[in-house]
Amino acid sequence: MSQQTVHSQRAAAGYLARARGRLSIEATRALFRKPLAVKTALPLISFTFDDFPRSAFLEAGSMLRRYGALGTYYVSLSLMGKQSHMGPMFQTEDLKELVHLGHELGCHTFGHCHSWSTPPDVYERAIVENQAALRDVLHGASFQTFSYPFSAPRLAVKQVAGRHFLCCRGGGLRDDRYFSRHSGGGQTFNSGITDLNLLCAFFLEKSRDNPEAVKSLIDQNARARGWLIFATHDVCGAPSPYGCTPDFFEQVVQWALESGARILPVVEAVEVLRASQPK
Ligand SMILES: [Zn+2]
Repeated sequence: MSQQTVHSQRAAAGYLARARGRLSIEATRALFRKPLAVKTALPLISFTFDDFPRSAFLEAGSMLRRYGALGTYYVSLSLMGKQSHMGPMFQTEDLKELVHLGHELGCHTFGHCHSWSTPPDVYERAIVENQAALRDVLHGASFQTFSYPFSAPRLAVKQVAGRHFLCCRGGGLRDDRYFSRHSGGGQTFNSGITDLNLLCAFFLEKSRDNPEAVKSLIDQNARARGWLIFATHDVCGAPSPYGCTPDFFEQVVQWALESGARILPVVEAVEVLRASQPK
Protein backbone atom coordinates (compact mmCIF):
# COMPACT_ATOMS: atom_id res chain seq x y z
CA MET A 1 0.00 0.00 0.00
CA SER A 2 1.43 3.38 -0.91
CA GLN A 3 2.20 6.00 1.71
CA GLN A 4 -0.38 8.27 0.11
CA THR A 5 -3.13 5.61 0.40
CA VAL A 6 -2.35 5.12 4.09
CA HIS A 7 -2.61 8.88 4.65
CA SER A 8 -5.91 9.18 2.86
CA GLN A 9 -7.35 6.17 4.70
CA ARG A 10 -6.33 7.72 8.02
CA ALA A 11 -7.85 11.05 6.99
CA ALA A 12 -11.10 9.32 6.01
CA ALA A 13 -11.23 7.40 9.31
CA GLY A 14 -10.67 10.65 11.24
CA TYR A 15 -13.37 12.41 9.26
CA LEU A 16 -15.84 9.58 9.90
CA ALA A 17 -15.06 9.52 13.63
CA ARG A 18 -15.61 13.30 13.85
CA ALA A 19 -18.84 13.05 11.86
CA ARG A 20 -20.09 10.26 14.16
CA GLY A 21 -19.21 12.39 17.18
CA ARG A 22 -21.12 15.36 15.79
CA LEU A 23 -24.16 13.21 15.04
CA SER A 24 -24.09 11.71 18.56
CA ILE A 25 -23.94 15.16 20.10
CA GLU A 26 -26.74 16.44 17.89
CA ALA A 27 -28.82 13.42 18.93
CA THR A 28 -28.12 14.14 22.61
CA ARG A 29 -29.28 17.71 22.12
CA ALA A 30 -32.38 16.83 20.09
CA LEU A 31 -33.78 13.76 21.86
CA PHE A 32 -35.10 12.88 25.34
CA ARG A 33 -35.84 16.53 25.95
CA LYS A 34 -37.91 17.90 28.83
CA PRO A 35 -38.86 21.30 27.41
CA LEU A 36 -39.37 24.34 29.60
CA ALA A 37 -40.17 27.86 28.43
CA VAL A 38 -37.84 30.41 30.01
CA LYS A 39 -40.25 33.29 30.38
CA THR A 40 -40.07 35.33 33.52
CA ALA A 41 -40.49 38.91 34.70
CA LEU A 42 -36.95 39.07 36.09
CA PRO A 43 -33.82 37.38 34.76
CA LEU A 44 -32.55 34.46 36.85
CA ILE A 45 -28.99 33.48 37.78
CA SER A 46 -27.88 30.33 39.64
CA PHE A 47 -24.44 29.64 41.12
CA THR A 48 -23.46 25.98 41.11
CA PHE A 49 -20.40 24.04 42.24
CA ASP A 50 -19.39 20.55 41.18
CA ASP A 51 -17.76 17.65 43.09
CA PHE A 52 -17.21 19.80 45.46
CA PRO A 53 -14.09 21.26 47.12
CA ARG A 54 -14.59 22.65 50.66
CA SER A 55 -13.61 26.14 49.48
CA ALA A 56 -16.73 26.23 47.28
CA PHE A 57 -18.76 26.06 50.48
CA LEU A 58 -16.53 27.93 52.96
CA GLU A 59 -15.49 30.79 50.64
CA ALA A 60 -18.10 31.03 47.90
CA GLY A 61 -21.06 29.81 49.97
CA SER A 62 -20.35 32.35 52.70
CA MET A 63 -19.97 35.08 50.11
CA LEU A 64 -23.29 34.22 48.47
CA ARG A 65 -25.01 34.40 51.84
CA ARG A 66 -23.46 37.80 52.56
CA TYR A 67 -25.28 38.99 49.44
CA GLY A 68 -28.50 37.28 50.52
CA ALA A 69 -28.15 34.48 47.97
CA LEU A 70 -27.85 30.67 48.00
CA GLY A 71 -26.05 28.16 45.78
CA THR A 72 -26.38 24.61 44.47
CA TYR A 73 -23.72 22.00 45.25
CA TYR A 74 -23.50 18.98 42.95
CA VAL A 75 -21.85 16.35 45.07
CA SER A 76 -20.10 13.04 44.34
CA LEU A 77 -20.18 11.34 47.72
CA SER A 78 -17.20 9.09 46.93
CA LEU A 79 -15.06 12.26 47.14
CA MET A 80 -16.09 13.09 50.73
CA GLY A 81 -13.09 13.88 52.95
CA LYS A 82 -10.58 13.29 50.13
CA GLN A 83 -7.68 15.48 49.07
CA SER A 84 -7.66 16.58 45.45
CA HIS A 85 -5.88 18.88 43.03
CA MET A 86 -8.68 21.33 43.84
CA GLY A 87 -7.82 21.25 47.56
CA PRO A 88 -9.62 19.34 50.32
CA MET A 89 -13.07 18.08 49.36
CA PHE A 90 -16.23 18.59 51.44
CA GLN A 91 -16.71 16.78 54.75
CA THR A 92 -19.81 15.19 56.29
CA GLU A 93 -20.35 18.25 58.49
CA ASP A 94 -20.23 20.53 55.46
CA LEU A 95 -23.20 18.75 53.90
CA LYS A 96 -25.25 19.12 57.06
CA GLU A 97 -24.29 22.76 57.56
CA LEU A 98 -24.85 23.62 53.92
CA VAL A 99 -28.41 22.27 53.92
CA HIS A 100 -29.05 23.89 57.31
CA LEU A 101 -28.09 27.28 55.81
CA GLY A 102 -30.52 26.80 52.93
CA HIS A 103 -28.13 25.92 50.09
CA GLU A 104 -29.19 23.12 47.76
CA LEU A 105 -27.54 19.74 47.17
CA GLY A 106 -27.56 18.11 43.75
CA CYS A 107 -26.32 14.75 42.48
CA HIS A 108 -23.12 14.27 40.46
CA THR A 109 -22.94 10.41 40.51
CA PHE A 110 -21.25 8.57 43.38
CA GLY A 111 -17.99 7.80 41.61
CA HIS A 112 -17.80 10.94 39.43
CA CYS A 113 -18.48 8.94 36.26
CA HIS A 114 -17.63 10.22 32.83
CA SER A 115 -20.88 11.19 31.13
CA TRP A 116 -19.86 10.18 27.62
CA SER A 117 -17.83 7.01 28.08
CA THR A 118 -19.61 5.29 31.01
CA PRO A 119 -22.11 2.57 30.00
CA PRO A 120 -25.64 3.72 30.89
CA ASP A 121 -26.36 0.85 33.32
CA VAL A 122 -23.16 1.59 35.25
CA TYR A 123 -24.03 5.30 35.20
CA GLU A 124 -27.49 4.62 36.61
CA ARG A 125 -26.04 2.49 39.43
CA ALA A 126 -23.73 5.41 40.28
CA ILE A 127 -26.75 7.73 40.53
CA VAL A 128 -28.62 5.31 42.82
CA GLU A 129 -25.47 4.75 44.91
CA ASN A 130 -25.04 8.50 45.40
CA GLN A 131 -28.68 8.82 46.49
CA ALA A 132 -28.20 6.02 49.04
CA ALA A 133 -24.96 7.58 50.31
CA LEU A 134 -26.75 10.91 50.77
CA ARG A 135 -29.49 9.26 52.83
CA ASP A 136 -26.80 7.73 55.06
CA VAL A 137 -25.45 11.20 55.84
CA LEU A 138 -28.69 13.19 55.85
CA HIS A 139 -31.72 11.13 56.76
CA GLY A 140 -34.67 11.79 54.54
CA ALA A 141 -32.69 13.91 52.07
CA SER A 142 -32.98 13.39 48.32
CA PHE A 143 -31.59 14.97 45.17
CA GLN A 144 -33.91 16.70 42.73
CA THR A 145 -31.24 18.05 40.40
CA PHE A 146 -28.18 16.58 38.71
CA SER A 147 -25.09 17.73 36.85
CA TYR A 148 -23.23 15.59 34.32
CA PRO A 149 -19.57 15.00 35.33
CA PHE A 150 -16.76 15.68 32.83
CA SER A 151 -18.65 16.14 29.58
CA ALA A 152 -21.94 16.40 27.83
CA PRO A 153 -23.88 13.15 28.20
CA ARG A 154 -24.21 10.60 25.48
CA LEU A 155 -27.83 10.04 24.54
CA ALA A 156 -28.40 6.86 26.59
CA VAL A 157 -26.90 8.56 29.66
CA LYS A 158 -29.16 11.58 29.20
CA GLN A 159 -32.16 9.24 29.05
CA VAL A 160 -31.12 7.54 32.30
CA ALA A 161 -30.43 10.78 34.20
CA GLY A 162 -33.65 12.38 32.95
CA ARG A 163 -35.66 9.60 34.61
CA HIS A 164 -34.23 10.35 38.05
CA PHE A 165 -34.29 14.14 38.35
CA LEU A 166 -36.42 17.23 37.90
CA CYS A 167 -33.57 18.75 35.93
CA CYS A 168 -30.01 18.02 34.78
CA ARG A 169 -27.32 20.64 34.17
CA GLY A 170 -24.85 20.28 31.32
CA GLY A 171 -21.27 19.40 32.11
CA GLY A 172 -18.36 19.99 29.85
CA LEU A 173 -15.10 20.61 31.59
CA ARG A 174 -12.83 19.29 28.93
CA ASP A 175 -14.58 17.26 26.29
CA ASP A 176 -17.29 19.44 24.93
CA ARG A 177 -15.49 21.88 22.69
CA TYR A 178 -17.68 20.89 19.76
CA PHE A 179 -20.76 20.79 21.97
CA SER A 180 -20.17 24.27 23.37
CA ARG A 181 -19.65 25.92 20.05
CA HIS A 182 -22.26 24.18 17.99
CA SER A 183 -25.05 22.80 20.09
CA GLY A 184 -25.83 25.39 22.71
CA GLY A 185 -24.93 22.85 25.38
CA GLY A 186 -22.50 25.04 27.22
CA GLN A 187 -21.04 28.46 28.00
CA THR A 188 -24.28 30.30 27.50
CA PHE A 189 -27.57 31.02 29.29
CA ASN A 190 -30.96 29.33 28.95
CA SER A 191 -33.60 31.20 26.97
CA GLY A 192 -36.60 30.46 24.77
CA ILE A 193 -37.46 26.78 25.12
CA THR A 194 -34.73 25.11 27.14
CA ASP A 195 -34.24 21.44 27.96
CA LEU A 196 -34.53 20.46 31.62
CA ASN A 197 -32.59 17.28 30.84
CA LEU A 198 -29.63 19.28 29.54
CA LEU A 199 -29.58 22.81 30.93
CA CYS A 200 -26.91 25.15 29.61
CA ALA A 201 -24.23 26.25 32.05
CA PHE A 202 -21.30 28.65 31.98
CA PHE A 203 -18.07 27.47 33.63
CA LEU A 204 -16.55 30.52 35.32
CA GLU A 205 -12.99 29.21 35.22
CA LYS A 206 -12.98 29.31 31.45
CA SER A 207 -13.27 33.10 31.56
CA ARG A 208 -11.41 33.91 34.76
CA ASP A 209 -8.80 35.81 32.75
CA ASN A 210 -11.50 37.61 30.81
CA PRO A 211 -14.06 38.91 33.32
CA GLU A 212 -15.58 41.20 30.69
CA ALA A 213 -16.90 38.10 28.88
CA VAL A 214 -18.76 37.15 32.05
CA LYS A 215 -20.13 40.69 32.47
CA SER A 216 -21.28 40.68 28.88
CA LEU A 217 -23.10 37.36 29.32
CA ILE A 218 -24.80 38.61 32.50
CA ASP A 219 -26.02 41.66 30.57
CA GLN A 220 -27.25 39.53 27.66
CA ASN A 221 -29.08 37.30 30.13
CA ALA A 222 -30.72 40.35 31.68
CA ARG A 223 -31.87 41.68 28.31
CA ALA A 224 -33.25 38.25 27.31
CA ARG A 225 -34.74 37.70 30.79
CA GLY A 226 -33.07 34.32 30.62
CA TRP A 227 -31.69 31.91 33.17
CA LEU A 228 -27.91 31.90 33.49
CA ILE A 229 -26.38 29.01 35.43
CA PHE A 230 -22.79 29.54 36.54
CA ALA A 231 -20.62 26.56 37.46
CA THR A 232 -17.17 26.20 38.96
CA HIS A 233 -15.24 24.08 41.48
CA ASP A 234 -12.73 25.50 44.01
CA VAL A 235 -12.88 29.17 45.02
CA CYS A 236 -9.60 30.13 46.70
CA GLY A 237 -6.54 32.36 46.48
CA ALA A 238 -4.55 29.93 44.33
CA PRO A 239 -7.27 28.10 42.40
CA SER A 240 -6.81 24.93 40.33
CA PRO A 241 -7.45 25.20 36.56
CA TYR A 242 -11.07 24.32 37.42
CA GLY A 243 -11.72 27.08 39.92
CA CYS A 244 -11.46 30.82 40.47
CA THR A 245 -10.40 33.35 43.11
CA PRO A 246 -12.75 34.81 45.74
CA ASP A 247 -12.23 38.30 44.23
CA PHE A 248 -13.30 37.14 40.79
CA PHE A 249 -16.27 35.25 42.25
CA GLU A 250 -17.40 38.26 44.27
CA GLN A 251 -17.20 40.49 41.22
CA VAL A 252 -19.47 38.08 39.34
CA VAL A 253 -21.99 38.00 42.22
CA GLN A 254 -22.04 41.82 42.27
CA TRP A 255 -22.57 42.03 38.51
CA ALA A 256 -25.33 39.42 38.78
CA LEU A 257 -27.17 41.52 41.38
CA GLU A 258 -26.59 44.79 39.51
CA SER A 259 -28.19 43.23 36.42
CA GLY A 260 -31.47 42.98 38.34
CA ALA A 261 -31.42 39.19 38.30
CA ARG A 262 -32.84 37.03 41.06
CA ILE A 263 -30.15 34.66 42.33
CA LEU A 264 -31.75 31.29 43.08
CA PRO A 265 -30.67 27.68 43.61
CA VAL A 266 -31.43 25.55 40.56
CA VAL A 267 -34.59 23.78 41.73
CA GLU A 268 -36.08 27.04 43.00
CA ALA A 269 -35.38 28.63 39.63
CA VAL A 270 -37.21 25.78 37.88
CA GLU A 271 -40.16 26.27 40.22
CA VAL A 272 -40.27 30.00 39.44
CA LEU A 273 -40.18 29.27 35.70
CA ARG A 274 -42.83 26.58 35.96
CA ALA A 275 -45.12 28.96 37.87
CA SER A 276 -44.83 31.50 35.04
CA GLN A 277 -45.39 29.07 32.14
CA PRO A 278 -47.56 30.48 29.37
CA LYS A 279 -51.12 29.20 29.88
ZN1 LIG B 1 -17.34 16.99 38.47
